Amino acid sequence: MNVLVTGGAGYIGSVCVEHLLNAGHQVAVYDNLSEGHRSAVDARATFILGEPEREGDVLEAVRRVRPDAIMHFAGSTLVGESMTNPKKYFHNNVVNGLRWLDAAVECGVKKFVFSSTCAVYGPPERLPMTEELPTRPINPYGESKLMLERALAWYQRVYGLECVIFRYFNAAGATEKFGEHHRIETHLIPNVLKVALGRAAHCEIYGTDYPTPDGTCIRDYVHVVDLAQAHMLGLQPGRSGIYNLGNGEGFSVREVISTCEKVTGRAIRVIEKPRRPGDPPRLVAAADKARRELGWQPRFPKLEDIIASAWAWHQKHPDGYPD
Ligand code: UDP
Repeated sequence: MNVLVTGGAGYIGSVCVEHLLNAGHQVAVYDNLSEGHRSAVDARATFILGEPEREGDVLEAVRRVRPDAIMHFAGSTLVGESMTNPKKYFHNNVVNGLRWLDAAVECGVKKFVFSSTCAVYGPPERLPMTEELPTRPINPYGESKLMLERALAWYQRVYGLECVIFRYFNAAGATEKFGEHHRIETHLIPNVLKVALGRAAHCEIYGTDYPTPDGTCIRDYVHVVDLAQAHMLGLQPGRSGIYNLGNGEGFSVREVISTCEKVTGRAIRVIEKPRRPGDPPRLVAAADKARRELGWQPRFPKLEDIIASAWAWHQKHPDGYPD
């Protein structure tokens, strides 16, 4: 298939591009490199340095590539930042997202695969979380992703655009070539591994008074390679739907840190901080629907293996990508 990948220079996008190419697909990456890195784009892909803010830029890219499918990874993804700069989230995730939907319809693209998030649910009534749970986001990040999900449902119904929506839980891990490098790192695992690498003196725990066994937030970590696998399955003709992607097991921030200590063999200095606004206490996926309908089978469900792959990448790339 001919696939256009937005945000293909970013963390999850770069790994998906690698997997698409390995599976024999033709790939064009569109990225403005605001978060992504040029060297995170697989050399086998065509690269388009775009700017979705520029009127007509998105449509022009879709006209040029004529893809069978668009995978839309580009967007802003930080819960904490969204609480202080909601405008950025509604703009990048909703306004620019709609440009991709419109261009897809205009150019007769059959399939749209959208990177959504478990943040659309807000604090869940029960765990593990199925796709039918009510969506009540408690941060602008989740809200903005939910808004595009809603638009997609109507674009599917009215225009017949096939839509696969993946609600990722916490993406982590790396392939040999591609890993997680944000210019300002806010994510737990890379921040903890920075301490193990000697690039930071300590890491921080945001909140130790949550209603969880050890007082820290619980998340469901999923290997980025397994996310890529799900995207590939989402390309099946005729397939559409909303799918959670997670492993169904929750780990607290403290458990993640101790697993990092175990994997790296290094002690991690920790400082306890207040809660970060916008964080729900526990998010754990039920991903039975993805397994059942898509045949998704995570290859790396164990937290230790996920962290080991991230550690291998960070050791090889202690400064991340060169650009
Ligand atoms: N977290 C933390 N210290 C950090 C980064 C994150 O304690 O340096 C916590 C954060 O509050 C959340 C969990 O770790 O409860 C996972 O955060 P991350 O930013 O990695 O992903 P998110 O769940 O926000 O998508």
